Amino acid sequence: LIQLFLPLNFLGFVYREIRRALTDLENMLGLLTRKPAIIDATDAQPLQLNGADIRFENVSFRYQTERPILQDLSFHVPSGSKVAIVGASGAGKSTIARLLYRFYELEAGRILIDGQDIRKVSLESLRRAIAIVPQDTVLFNTSIRDNIAYAKPDASAAEVDQAIAMAHLQDFINSLPQGDQTQVGERGLKVSGGEKQRIAIARAMLKGSPILVFDEATSSLDSASEQAILKAMREVAQQHTSLVIAHRLSTITDADQILVLQQGQLVEQGSHLQLLAANGRYASLWRQQAEQSD
Ligand code: ADP
Ligand code: MG
Repeated sequence: LIQLFLPLNFLGFVYREIRRALTDLENMLGLLTRKPAIIDATDAQPLQLNGADIRFENVSFRYQTERPILQDLSFHVPSGSKVAIVGASGAGKSTIARLLYRFYELEAGRILIDGQDIRKVSLESLRRAIAIVPQDTVLFNTSIRDNIAYAKPDASAAEVDQAIAMAHLQDFINSLPQGDQTQVGERGLKVSGGEKQRIAIARAMLKGSPILVFDEATSSLDSASEQAILKAMREVAQQHTSLVIAHRLSTITDADQILVLQQGQLVEQGSHLQLLAANGRYASLWRQQAEQSD
């Protein structure tokens, strides 16, 4: 009997494995074919900017079908203000920046810039309006100057110089053997995390977009570089609507509004002082980080 049972059991195992492999294949093909292309609506109009006021209205989003990432998220970034988003790693902060740039379509809700649904405006005009200083900056294998200038190919020399000054990169560039012609990137000079982030800030400055998004732009820096970058960010943020994704709360205490995101949901909202007084999630994060920095 055992001799009869074993091969049957084995066949059952093989059958299950084949089934699983087929299901995986199905899922994979399904994901590939279902992913909607991000393209202009047929009647897409250029975004008409008027102060760059941003609204997220009941936004829900998920990357894969199983797991919701953002759930019914609503917030307002008034024209010219600075709004910070804080929350644990994985809460969905960078996803908010990606959705604003329309890298993905929403599952529900809408995102408005100056009253216009970003799905209905041309992608080119949308993305021209937003400059993102990302978490990880990629440098090309070319000169440090070209690495900045690519953000606006038709920029004048004076415009590039101004962006370099605003990002406080001048001293660093002056210290290099070939100045702004020094080759960087994989095959060139190794550039520190802080310098890379300042290059990213210079690119964003040169792009001249009315909306600035800083995605944890200072998270990997030592305190001196962080202070230099924060100074640069504050100066430039004055003329922009800015969204600052922050890990270290000490960097965003001056924000007009702070949104506290937890597992894709907005759990608290207010200024630094209001949130400390509310003595909730933000206040406890603040105390945690204060202890760590002692
Ligand atoms: P945060 O910036 O707050 O750390 P993210 O917005 O990057 O978080 O990610 C939110 C969640 O979505 C995380 O759990 C992350 O693993 C998941 N996620 C991020 N990008 C993708 C992706 N391209 N595909 C699937 N899941 C993703
Ligand atoms: Mg992130």
